[in-house]
Amino acid sequence: MTQLSPLLKQATPVVVDHAKGSWIFGTDGEEYLDFTTGIGVTSTGHCHPDVVAAAREQVGKIIHAQYTTVMHTPLLELTDKLGEVLPAGLDSVFYANSGSEAVEAAIRLARMATARPNIVVFQGGFHGRTVAAASLTTAGTKFSAGFSPLMSGVHMAPFPYAYRYGLDEDSAVRFAVRELDYLFKTRTAPNDTAAFLIEPALGDGGYLPTPPAFMEALRERADRYGIALIFDEVQAGVGRTGKFWGHQHSSATPDIIITAKGIASGFPISAIAASTELMSKGWAGSQGGTYGGNAVAAAAAVATLGVIEREGLVENARVRGEQLQAGLREVQSRFPVIGDVRGRGLMQGIEFTTADGRPDAATAAAVQQATTKQKLLTLTCGPEGNVVRLIPALVVTEDEITLGVDRFEAAVAAVSGAVTVGAATG
Ligand code: PMP
Repeated sequence: MTQLSPLLKQATPVVVDHAKGSWIFGTDGEEYLDFTTGIGVTSTGHCHPDVVAAAREQVGKIIHAQYTTVMHTPLLELTDKLGEVLPAGLDSVFYANSGSEAVEAAIRLARMATARPNIVVFQGGFHGRTVAAASLTTAGTKFSAGFSPLMSGVHMAPFPYAYRYGLDEDSAVRFAVRELDYLFKTRTAPNDTAAFLIEPALGDGGYLPTPPAFMEALRERADRYGIALIFDEVQAGVGRTGKFWGHQHSSATPDIIITAKGIASGFPISAIAASTELMSKGWAGSQGGTYGGNAVAAAAAVATLGVIEREGLVENARVRGEQLQAGLREVQSRFPVIGDVRGRGLMQGIEFTTADGRPDAATAAAVQQATTKQKLLTLTCGPEGNVVRLIPALVVTEDEITLGVDRFEAAVAAVSGAVTVGAATG
C-alpha cells in the first residue's frame, strides 16, 4: 500500500472534511477552531465566499495561461491591485508559487543588481526549504542539516531576541547592531554584501516581532553601503500583524519585498516587488517559471485583497490581536511554565520555560497536542521547539478569540495543572 512519506511530521491527527471561516470540520465529526490557518495562509478564513466565487469563475475561463507565453487578465488585475498596498516606489512585480521560490528570486535579483556575493541573514530566520532558501534559514538545523553543501555566501548575524538574552529591547537592539557591524569587519565587508534578508517578525523561528529600531538600523546601513534590504513578508504580511505589512510597525522600507501565504487565501502564489530601476538590474530572462502567477491563484488573490479591504480585516487583526494577547497574558499570570507571551496582531507566540528559565520544548509540545483535544488547532515553532504559535484567520471574531483563549488555557491546565498559580479554569 502506498503511503505518505514518513519524513512528513503531522502536528495533529485531524483529517479535514470541509472548513469555513475559522472552523475545520473533521472526518471524525468534530469541529475544530483553527488557529493555524494552514500556517498563516487562509487569511480571509477558510473558503470565503468571494474567494470561492472568484476561483470558480476563473476555472471556467482559463486555468493555466503560462505567463511568459500568454498574459492573462487576473495577473494584470492583481498587479494593479498590489500597487495600492505595496510600499511607495516598489512598482515592479515578479510572481512565483511558493515562499521559497520568491525568496530565491529576491536573492538572485539582489546579487545580480549589486554584483556582490554575500547575503546577511539573522539568527532564527526562516526563509524556506529549497536548498538555497534552506541555506538562508537559521530557524533550526532540521531545515538545513544532512544535505550539505548548502549555498555559499550566507552569513548570519544575531537577531535582537531580548527574552533569550535576558535583555530589554533597547539593549538587545544595541547588541545586535554592534554584532552586525562587527560582522562587516570580520566576515563580509560591505562591498561584498549584496543584501540583508530579514522577517519583520520571526515566524518559524519563534514568533518574535523584529524591533522597529533594528529594522531602521538595517535601513541606515543598507543606504550607507549600497546593500539591498529585503523584507521577507511571507508570514508577517497581508494584514497578519495588524498593519498591511509587518514592516510598517517601523519606519524602515524595503528595497525588495517578498509575499506569499495570506495573499491568495490558500492558492499557491508568491511575489517579489522592487522598484523598476532595481528590477531592471537583474539579467533579462533570469525570471520565469511554468506555474508562476497561475490564473486561478491570481484571481483568488485579487478577491482576497478585495475582501481584506471591504471587511476591514487589517484593523480586525489589530483589535482581535490585542484581545488575544491580553487573554494569553492572563493565562500566563496563572501558569509559571509560560515564560513569555508576545506578538503583533494575529501572530502570537507563547514561549514555555522551565522553573530555572531554560527552554521547555516538552511542555510546549504537550500543550500543542492538548489543544487538539480541546478542539483548538495550534502549532509549535522556534529553534528549541518551545513556542506555541497562534495564527487565527483575519476574519476571527471576538467570541472565537475568547473561546480560543479558554481552550488554550484548558490545554495548559491539563498539561501543567500541578504548577498553576491561583485559579485556573478548565
Ligand atoms: N519565508 C517565511 C517567512 C516563511 O514563513 C515561509 C514558510 N513558512 C517561507 C519563507 C517559505 O515559504 P514556502 O513554504 O511557501 O516555500
